[in-house]
Amino acid sequence: MSIVSKRVLVTGGAGFLGSHLCERLVDAGHDVLCVDNYYTGRRSNVAHLLDSDRFEILRHDVTFSLFVEVDEIYNLACPASPVHYQHDPVQTTKTSVHGAINMLGLAKRTGAKIFQASTSEVYGDPTVHPQTEEYWGNVNPIGIRSCYDEGKRCAETLFFDYYRQHQLQIKVARIFNTYGPRMHPADGRVVSNFIVQALRGDPITIYGEGQQTRSFCYRDDLVEGFIRLMDTPAEVTGPINLGNPVEFTMLELAQNVIDLTGTSSKLTFQPLPADDPKQRQPDISKAKKYLDWEPKVKLREGLTHTIAYFEQLLKEID
Ligand code: NAD
Ligand code: UDP
Repeated sequence: MSIVSKRVLVTGGAGFLGSHLCERLVDAGHDVLCVDNYYTGRRSNVAHLLDSDRFEILRHDVTFSLFVEVDEIYNLACPASPVHYQHDPVQTTKTSVHGAINMLGLAKRTGAKIFQASTSEVYGDPTVHPQTEEYWGNVNPIGIRSCYDEGKRCAETLFFDYYRQHQLQIKVARIFNTYGPRMHPADGRVVSNFIVQALRGDPITIYGEGQQTRSFCYRDDLVEGFIRLMDTPAEVTGPINLGNPVEFTMLELAQNVIDLTGTSSKLTFQPLPADDPKQRQPDISKAKKYLDWEPKVKLREGLTHTIAYFEQLLKEID
């Protein structure tokens, strides 16, 4: 079957997930325009794609207008780690909200299909477990996580208003914790923190008592979900949960990292950050039904690949 080549814009394309998505799209024969302001992304994440005449990169902040001609837009621009999105919370909200308005405006003018990288954070500290897409969430509107959570919630509102008001083709994915190679070593998220600490022999920082849960999806599984969602018929708008439904406590995650790295690092307990969700697990029935998708990579396998990546990276930077 021959592939119809499309012009695809990926905002946040030099980040952890965006760079993998760009790679997948270039490999599939599409013309990819990666847009990034390098707030958390790195040119090195996409350096290997620069030789391809199907790949182009533009330094641009999505809070400003962008005039390009495209067939599809994946809107991923936004820092995802709490440490980074809380560093400049006003810019985080602007990136989600103004970024969504600008990208939706671009989609409206060009007729492009548009995908939004939303998040499980729209459920806040959930009182429904596991989380289904019907759950409206339990979000603090004025806390330290609100710039991200409410920014992403407002972006979803904009997507659905553009869909109802301007008949845009929208695809909204609610992404649950995802990890893998190309995470930034100073990203601050739990998987990268634990692995970098273990490899350096530093104490492993457990926030709170480590009983809070997360469900970790390997990046390849997730990116497959993105592509499948973009390719669904127009009536499939989402929101659709994308994540791995297997749930772990942070202590269990730490133990897995300790086993797999063979580190002598000890655990150290630090205060739990404000509004840190106690539990998180996606109900992925919709993804199974509409995308025929479910994650394949088990935690220990994904951690093994991620540890190998960080081992190499730390050799270069330490
Ligand atoms: P990341 O921080 O590695 O990537 C975000 C990218 O967006 C970076 O390259 C950054 O430089 C860029 N960016 C930030 N602000 C920008 C702006 N104003 N203009 C242009 N570019 C900008 O994070 P990631 O894990 O790759 O996350 C990608 C997307 O997926 C984000 O929208 C995030 O909210 C969403 N998401 C990720 C996860 C996860 O676990 N990885 C979970 C839920 C949602
Ligand atoms: N966490 C931890 N130690 C760390 C970093 C994070 O115990 O060094 C905990 C954090 O408190 C949260 C969970 O790990 O409960 C996931 O945090 P992360 O920042 O990866 O993402 P979140 O799901 O909170 O956005």
